Amino acid sequence: SSRKKLSLTAKVLLGMGLGVVVGFLFRTLLSDVSFVQEYLVQGALVVGGDIFIASLKMLVVPLIFVSLVCGTSSLKDLSTLGRMGGKTLGFYLVTTAIAITLALVMGTVFKPGAGVDLTSAATFNAEEAPHLGQVIVDMFPTNPINAMAEGNTLQIIVFAVLFGIAISLAGKAGERVAALFADFNEVIMKLVSLLMNIAPYGVFCLMAKLFSELGLEAIVNLLEYFLVLSATLLLHGFITYSIMFRVFTGLNPLIFLKKMEDAIMFAFSTASSNATIPVTMETTTRRMGVDNKIAAFTVPLGATINMDGTAIMQGVATAFIAQAFNIDLSFSDYLMVILTATLASIGTAGVPGVGIIMLAMVLNQVGLPVEGIALIIGVDRLLDMIRTAVNITGDSVVTCIVAKSEGALDIARFNDPQAGKKEE
Ligand code: ASP
Repeated sequence: SSRKKLSLTAKVLLGMGLGVVVGFLFRTLLSDVSFVQEYLVQGALVVGGDIFIASLKMLVVPLIFVSLVCGTSSLKDLSTLGRMGGKTLGFYLVTTAIAITLALVMGTVFKPGAGVDLTSAATFNAEEAPHLGQVIVDMFPTNPINAMAEGNTLQIIVFAVLFGIAISLAGKAGERVAALFADFNEVIMKLVSLLMNIAPYGVFCLMAKLFSELGLEAIVNLLEYFLVLSATLLLHGFITYSIMFRVFTGLNPLIFLKKMEDAIMFAFSTASSNATIPVTMETTTRRMGVDNKIAAFTVPLGATINMDGTAIMQGVATAFIAQAFNIDLSFSDYLMVILTATLASIGTAGVPGVGIIMLAMVLNQVGLPVEGIALIIGVDRLLDMIRTAVNITGDSVVTCIVAKSEGALDIARFNDPQAGKKEE
């Protein structure tokens, strides 16, 4: 037939759009029809959405382990590892600090919390903040199988890197094991491609479910907070990253952003950097031409410790809550917020909604009432989706920058619009 075939990206976009429309219809027209609510919204959509998320999560642990062992064992020279690790951490910290500074500036200039009515504030129980020293100790697994069973990304990274180093030092035996892992890596990436084909349906289910339940009134009540935060996220996602990308790689940031499309849609619909790791890996390596030895390290690490979007939410939220409670923050308070929010994003997994829990730690640090979180939690879901997209875009920018500086970015592939693109 002459029917034009849609690319996977177009299908996912279609699934997303249809999901929003259907969800909205369910919510506005069919909210009283118990059949629809019980069997479609709570039944079919939940099943479809959960299978999709499960299939992504299923890939994460084997993918991180295999690709990272593969990447580390192929390093010609182990000093590369230290240099690459240092650069990656440096860029992750700096981008996060820029993000939160931007958020505090926007929050102070636009004052989204001025004149907010506090009577509706409920209570919120803050969680204990993890101690930084403990976070570092916890990176070292006592049992690698257990680390994998629990999906502890940092522990898996540490074990995989050590395992990969040992392979590269183990002579003939090491070469055989390395070849095996290289094959495994091909197979797993194939599995990623296969499972990405169910994405349009999965994304449809997630969106329809979400929009059939989304509390839009809450967004209207907190419109200023919502708008200032979204604007800051977009500003950082498009402008800060484009400038950084251009300055540090010399390549065209528009090509970069265009190629992020799949990963951004996955991050948006799952609200989880972690579940998006397979797609971020696929995007940076197959579509952008980053060598696996860089991406295998930077992508999972970034999904765990680099959360610029989350830091932005924490900055705007802190300003918002301070304004709502009429508390003035001093300059040193602001510095404290930057420091804690940057640290707060380390050691927290990229899963839905965790950013708002970490916000309590930031508020405590500068003596703001944690009950303030109750004010904004009602609108957090949609914002979580947007900030997760920013989080993984940040991981990918740094991945490209580090790859370019290590001579591990295939520029011809980066510039080829068709590279790694999936047609059905
Ligand atoms: N959902 C975000 C992520 O996975 C974390 C957050 O809640 O801010 O990256």
